[in-house]
Amino acid sequence: MAFDLILRDLRLASDDATRVDIGLKDGRIAALMPELKGDGPALVFGGRLALPGFVETHIHLDKACILDRCACRKGTLEEAIAEVAAAKRAFTEADIEARAASVLDRAIAQGTSHIRTHVEVDPRIGLKSFDAVMRLRRAYAWALDIEICVFPQEGLLNDPGTEALLRQALHQGADLIGGCPYTDSDPLGQIERIFSIAREYDVDIDFHLDFDLDASRNTIEEVCRQTEGHGWGGRVAIGHATKLSAMPAAQFDRMAQLLADAGVAVTVLPATDLFLMGRGQDHNVPRGVAPAHRLLRQGVNCSLSTNNMLNPFTPFGDASLVRMANLFANAAQLGRPEDMADCFDMVSSRSARLLNLSDYGIQPGGAADIVVLDSTSRAQAVAELAQPLLGFKRGRQSFARPAPELFKP
Ligand SMILES: [Zn+2]
Repeated sequence: MAFDLILRDLRLASDDATRVDIGLKDGRIAALMPELKGDGPALVFGGRLALPGFVETHIHLDKACILDRCACRKGTLEEAIAEVAAAKRAFTEADIEARAASVLDRAIAQGTSHIRTHVEVDPRIGLKSFDAVMRLRRAYAWALDIEICVFPQEGLLNDPGTEALLRQALHQGADLIGGCPYTDSDPLGQIERIFSIAREYDVDIDFHLDFDLDASRNTIEEVCRQTEGHGWGGRVAIGHATKLSAMPAAQFDRMAQLLADAGVAVTVLPATDLFLMGRGQDHNVPRGVAPAHRLLRQGVNCSLSTNNMLNPFTPFGDASLVRMANLFANAAQLGRPEDMADCFDMVSSRSARLLNLSDYGIQPGGAADIVVLDSTSRAQAVAELAQPLLGFKRGRQSFARPAPELFKP
């Protein structure tokens, strides 16, 4: 059989062990087996790790790369929301598009193949960000699948005109709806409203939820109740959920059970949460990062994601998801190889499950989305921040990033 390209001697991240050759043809994986016989140009990888690309479940392209326009003095959530809301008034479509494109370029070179981006919609910004990201979705289809979650960052029930804009975006191709109850004058009312819009448009939901460390009350229970009431299990995710890091074990276990039973997934955003949480403390500053690894053990699907890059919510970032996995493992004090492998899955296969991706995986007949890492196991990749070496999207090479070369005397 003739192939467009054969990738030889790769380990698959799905089990870290099997070494296979992969034959690509017409954008798909035409064959996958050890020592594949066939004709075509070949690349040999010496047992390095291959995955179908990293999956970003939660990133804000529209407000990335604005550190030079914002103050970041207190480092609090309130300051970040106010500074970005003020900067947003000067955004133009061309400006949004240029900043977002610079994030996408970096994400591609970091081995990311799928992105869910949260896009703000309200009467001040209108659909500018949405329109810009829609254009980028088309322009970047050669390297990335982008899905768009429109959401009301500054509130819904307190912000007349926002719901009509959310609906307009859903009509025009937004993939799903998000919520941000903690900025709404009526958080529970917003949750109910978002569910009813999601049902009307038959779309998934991804909330920004419970972004503080007060464990005495939370909106997780209401989201789980509504998810079950609407039969939306497997279609709802919550991001941050930092209150989970502040709960005593018994309360945490009860919450994890609710999330698992309802089929609500959790996205942890370690860079943002480490930066913004615990600002009221002058010593013993808490990490404020939800313990995703403990949620996994109780049957909750979780992902780790970037959230923000180079803005007052997170004045850092290089769009690397392997770095996010490493940061979480470090903050959560995870040193066992099996726990680090879980962290890898939370930026790849588990993230794909959260997005309900149907064609994710290196398998015969599947899309030839393949990223090769300079590593031989998932745990090693997380521990050592393995560099992506090259990647393919639907069989076409999307980036190369050769390993460093030393010139020893
Ligand atoms: Zn976010």
